[in-house]
Amino acid sequence: MNEVTIIGAGLAGSEAAYFLAEHGLKVVLVDMKPKLTPAHASDKFCELVCSNSLKSDDIYGNACGLLKEEMRILGSLTMAAAGRSRVPAGGALAVDREKFSSYVDEHLRSHPNIRIVSEEVGDLPASGIVATGPLTQGKLFEAIAAKFGCLHFFDASAPIVSAESIDMEKAFAQDRYDRGPGDYLNCPMTKEEYENFVTELLSAERTILHDFEKNDVFEGCMPLEVMAARGMDTLRFGPFKPVGLTWEGRRPYAALQLRRENEEGTSYGLVGCQTNLRFGEQKRVFSLIPALKNAEFERYGVMHRNTYLEAPKCLNADFSVKGNPGLFFAGQITGVEGYVESAASGLIAGYHVLNRALGKPSLVPPASTVIGALSRYIATENKDFQPMNANYGILEGGYEGIRDKKERRRLIAERALYEIGNFRRQILEG
Ligand SMILES: Cc1cc2nc3c(=O)[nH]c(=O)nc-3n(C[C@H](O)[C@H](O)[C@H](O)COP(=O)(O)OP(=O)(O)OC[C@H]3O[C@@H](n4cnc5c(N)ncnc54)[C@H](O)[C@@H]3O)c2cc1C
Repeated sequence: MNEVTIIGAGLAGSEAAYFLAEHGLKVVLVDMKPKLTPAHASDKFCELVCSNSLKSDDIYGNACGLLKEEMRILGSLTMAAAGRSRVPAGGALAVDREKFSSYVDEHLRSHPNIRIVSEEVGDLPASGIVATGPLTQGKLFEAIAAKFGCLHFFDASAPIVSAESIDMEKAFAQDRYDRGPGDYLNCPMTKEEYENFVTELLSAERTILHDFEKNDVFEGCMPLEVMAARGMDTLRFGPFKPVGLTWEGRRPYAALQLRRENEEGTSYGLVGCQTNLRFGEQKRVFSLIPALKNAEFERYGVMHRNTYLEAPKCLNADFSVKGNPGLFFAGQITGVEGYVESAASGLIAGYHVLNRALGKPSLVPPASTVIGALSRYIATENKDFQPMNANYGILEGGYEGIRDKKERRRLIAERALYEIGNFRRQILEG
């Protein structure tokens, strides 16, 4: 059997390489390190470029916690590394980043089935896995853009909150001028609430950008805090304009609108609220809006150079390229978002490559698992395809009738873990 080529030894490439090597395939793992992208700083593989948190470790109450457990069941290297390098951080799985990368780096470099090549790759390979991340460098970036023509640059996104955490006593459904069935949820603010919000927004801590990220912000997705800096009333005449809305018999002073993120209406996006604030600050500042006082954030806004494929157009749910079943993409470049999600996509792409090599049919994990939901998300037609992280909104439904959120999430997790266990058995033993 030929060597499997994997380009990029970040979160996704490391997972895929180790998984394949552990299952007996020969792998050549190519990474430009020790040459660095503008965001990477270490010569070790599987580097966490920003925060040291892998988010919640709550298997039964958080979708990212559940995803991590699914990954453990599937034999994840990054989860093993995280277990060995964790630092106290309440309910979050935070790690000592140096120990985390070292663990992965050592396991890859010492593996008898893995050959490491230090080289900046310029061409797309004929087959294998491309996992070069949101900062894919040089000619390879150009080659991917030329072939798939659908890459995005410096970008900001808006937070998403869970529907059940919105205070519906303080929000109301209405489309502006009643032009529609009331698809939007509006979060009204008084003058005092609005001005307090703007003041706090302007003084809130932002994510520090590297030089390479300072240019080229699209006007169309300007961060809210940048827009607000133009004047106290700018948001009131922009994304928070209250015209055509009625609350308690009159037009509110300002109103933030929320738009459904999915068919089931379990998640809502904060319209026009692209932001570069630190995650904790987003929660603090947006929670000043009465309807969002207890909002639970399923995704925070982010801004960085975020290169990703318009995956539904070019990838299948097994992460292979449409029309080229031997070539796979994995990691953030596929439109999954976050460290854990990127690693998970590498792990699952590894499974599919193994299957292909063994001549077995390709099985996408069930939609009731987080890893299966993410796999489907990247391959499902979507006119406004945006990077997605683990959240309950993308999971297959089934427990909507259970009002107790804790109990519902526990059942969702139990189902997912059962299904992922079955999936593992089918793949490895079937
Ligand atoms: C600045 C920034 C901050 C982020 N912060 C967070 C955060 O705090 N939390 C979070 O969950 N997610 C964060 N993300 C998003 C995402 O989770 C990470 O980018 C994650 O590392 C993606 O994993 P990956 O495997 O897809 O890519 P990476 O981990 O970036 O790995 C890609 C690898 O490919 C190599 N490479 C690139 N181009 C080439 C080439 N041409 N030839 C050979 N090798 C190449 C790189 O050296 C690197 O090792 C951030 C992203 C960026 C860009």
